[in-house]
Amino acid sequence: MTTPEHTLVGIHFAFATGLHRLVGWRGVVMAGVASNIPDWDGIPMLFDMQRFESGHRVWGHGIMSIFLASLLIGFFQIRLDWIGFIANRFPVSMPKNGVSAAPRNTEWLIGGIGGVAFASIAMCAQLLHLPCDMVVSGGTGLSDWAIQPWWPFSSAAYVYPLIPWGDIGPTVILMCGIIVIAKRNSHLSQTSWLTIVVLCGYLVVRGWARGTLIV
Ligand SMILES: [Zn+2]
Repeated sequence: MTTPEHTLVGIHFAFATGLHRLVGWRGVVMAGVASNIPDWDGIPMLFDMQRFESGHRVWGHGIMSIFLASLLIGFFQIRLDWIGFIANRFPVSMPKNGVSAAPRNTEWLIGGIGGVAFASIAMCAQLLHLPCDMVVSGGTGLSDWAIQPWWPFSSAAYVYPLIPWGDIGPTVILMCGIIVIAKRNSHLSQTSWLTIVVLCGYLVVRGWARGTLIV
């Protein structure tokens, strides 16, 4: 999936699970940002294409990397409140109905427990990244690009190419969900669940049409 798609999946995950009510908008931002973290292993592309080929969907997509990155980003959120820091400099309007700046009971969201909460959100968002990548693979002139979740302990690779690279469907579906949320300003969780269901349905139909649904 592309960076915007991963971000939208993370945001819908946060709304669908009610993180906006439990943790406030910081939880939504954490999920949207963290859902892109595994793709740090694509950075070598800027310097060395060969290294990119061997490392992308491997180094950052392993459970070990995801676990460590979750601890780091959760720790820095509690110590530095980097989400609040960036939001103060680049203010954006959030749906006023349902996304609070802070959850109703903030006492628990500090110190170690708060760190665990944000690390857990980051962990879930990153784990979601893996199936999202697995189902978007291959295409005209492109080979399937498997992920290696057990790296560096095992090079076992997995891919389930339901839609090819460049398929615009997920972007359209995920974006429609966000537009509906922004317009209605209510029923955030229900809208995100519906968006996720429609996305899954689209993947199944496209995989069936492509002949990759049943392997
Ligand atoms: Zn990825």
